[in-house]
Amino acid sequence: MNSDVRVRFAPSPTGFLHIGGARTALFNWLYAKHTGGTLVLRIEDTDRARNTDEAARAIYEGLRWLGLDWDEGPEAGGDLGPYFQSEREAIYQSYLEKLRAAGRIYDDGGSTRFRFLREKVVVDDVICGRIEFDMTSAETNPDMTIRRPDGSWIFHFVNVVDDIEMKISHVMRGEDHLSNTPKHMQLYQALGATPPRFAHIPLILNKDGSKMSKRDQGASLNTYIDGGYLPEAVCNYLCLLGWSPKDNREKIEIEEVVKLFELEKVHRKNASFDLDKCTWLNGEYVRELGDDRFHELARQALGKAGVDFSKFAADYVRAALDTCKGKFKIFSELPAYCGFYFTEDINYNPEGVAKHFIPENKPRLVAVRDAFAALENFDAANLETAMKSTAAQLGLKVGALVHPTRLAVTGSNAGPSLYHLLEILGKEKVLARIDRALAVFSLSSRAESRDPEA
Ligand code: GLU
Repeated sequence: MNSDVRVRFAPSPTGFLHIGGARTALFNWLYAKHTGGTLVLRIEDTDRARNTDEAARAIYEGLRWLGLDWDEGPEAGGDLGPYFQSEREAIYQSYLEKLRAAGRIYDDGGSTRFRFLREKVVVDDVICGRIEFDMTSAETNPDMTIRRPDGSWIFHFVNVVDDIEMKISHVMRGEDHLSNTPKHMQLYQALGATPPRFAHIPLILNKDGSKMSKRDQGASLNTYIDGGYLPEAVCNYLCLLGWSPKDNREKIEIEEVVKLFELEKVHRKNASFDLDKCTWLNGEYVRELGDDRFHELARQALGKAGVDFSKFAADYVRAALDTCKGKFKIFSELPAYCGFYFTEDINYNPEGVAKHFIPENKPRLVAVRDAFAALENFDAANLETAMKSTAAQLGLKVGALVHPTRLAVTGSNAGPSLYHLLEILGKEKVLARIDRALAVFSLSSRAESRDPEA
């Protein structure tokens, strides 16, 4: 490490990594990378009721998925550990004694309180600017409890002690902690320590302006990990939650953000969370994926949905997946988009059935079937020619045949390019599927013909 910058991500283990936490981690990571500094991961697990082990693992996994590595902390080591607050009891005791010696604590019915100086405290925040907090009144700012009667520690105290002990130079965290900062400043002062620079990053709000909470859609990083998003796209999106490059580009590689990232440039105003935008951005990244990674992720997504690739030739799978490139935004869309390649159990989209499996389309689909059956070379170009000449013979636009054919073969109204998917499926499957559709078709036609309005 070639700089004095030491930042930290200090999550309380809650069971999963929240999008706000991930963004805080990312901004700290960006700043550490930008300055050549050190990122510390500290687990703030003073809440003994929680299962730290599992919850902490969810944090490591989330950070690693995003590609955010830490220099010191659990599983990384470091000279200033332990990096779990639950293992730092002796350190907190010694700092408590310092406060006692300075005459700044007193007992209050079993809990320990820290006596504030009654003065104005200025927080000079890199992002939020200079803010004066009036702590002169004990009514509005009563002395704060730092230890509960059961011996457990309050967040403010241990957080400050650890930042001192871990030689943190910059505290970057959510703006919800801004109002805690004057209290923390008083602790630094009482302990004779120089406070770090503070940089409070904007809150993340839902589209409707409400503060994003754990339960909101897209709040857990698992939504992205399990939902077929690419980590680099999610990371890119998180960068935009409170920061942007000068030219307001939205798709920007992380290496470039590292170069450009300055604390002073972090936005003051709240960030607005937009899952659709994140999904759009993901689609942009998917479009540019290299072949091998595209195929690996596509296979994973389909495998998760139950596709057994051992039943299909490798060339077939590859050709099938190639027709999906650039056609979807997140990998979890793939099973619905191209699952028809891997099953004969086609479910026809009901709206499509109502629209396209209508009596007058039956002879048309029969004509398409006959034209396809006559083809020697079942390739996309020949299929297209056959379809067009059938349409011409029937005096129809080709669209009138394309839609019922697509529905018959894939079960859906949308999907990969029709002639290509027909070629990949091959003559045998295509004809069998059209036959099956024609049978289903007669059922729905009969239902229709019973309806006097039809
Ligand atoms: N454990 C605190 C939290 O998760 C840390 C706050 C801070 O970064 O100082 O909100």
